[in-house]
Amino acid sequence: MSLFSKIFGTKDNSKRQEYVHYVLSDSKNVYYLKKMKKTIVMFPDRINTNAHAEAKTKHVYTKKFRSLFEFWKYITKSKKWYVEYQAGTIENLEKHIEILAPFIVQATNKLRREMEFSEKEIYSIAGWDNLLFRYKDKSELVLKESQKLKAYCANCGSERLGFIQRYPKSICHECLPKVTDKNGRSVEFFNSHIGGYGCQGYYSETNQQEKYELDVCYIDDKEFVAEEARFGGIVINLKEKP
Ligand SMILES: [Zn+2]
Repeated sequence: MSLFSKIFGTKDNSKRQEYVHYVLSDSKNVYYLKKMKKTIVMFPDRINTNAHAEAKTKHVYTKKFRSLFEFWKYITKSKKWYVEYQAGTIENLEKHIEILAPFIVQATNKLRREMEFSEKEIYSIAGWDNLLFRYKDKSELVLKESQKLKAYCANCGSERLGFIQRYPKSICHECLPKVTDKNGRSVEFFNSHIGGYGCQGYYSETNQQEKYELDVCYIDDKEFVAEEARFGGIVINLKEKP
């Protein structure tokens, strides 16, 4: 296969990509959400194998709302609303951040409490929370709301100290000593290298002499995975369901 057909495909030699984005606008206390679809078609140029792109934006629909609360109810209708509506794909959200902030906090806290999102989806949820952090200097209200963002322990469900955005499915300090191997024998994990890198398990009270070679670990019937945390240390996350 030539490089040309690898990039552009062999069928019609063009490559099509679709992006959906939204525009929120308002006029006289009525709010409108426009759904737009942008299609970009890449056409290969036969002469020098460069490509040129043609973009078309199509208006799909407009929804009308009498309040931002109605708008919020609409976009959070489905269970995976944060995947369907990514914060970054809705234009002008920041204009209404003061009214939306409490709704966002309530909704993402609920997601973290229920813990039904995948690891990949953590970033979509964080995108919504980040709106509050980005505009917290805009007003006292947004700042106050951003401080209400919460995370919960993936084992005991208790509220975590501080907002743990990157690891919303990790366990709390109190639950760490409950971690065991499959047979119920206590294990603990440490960074394997100085500087906070790597992750190595040991059976507890063996002075780090008896290694535990897996990263999967357990609390009762729940499965967890130990890994090196981004800024050093160890984090123990609920294991992703296949
Ligand atoms: Zn806990």
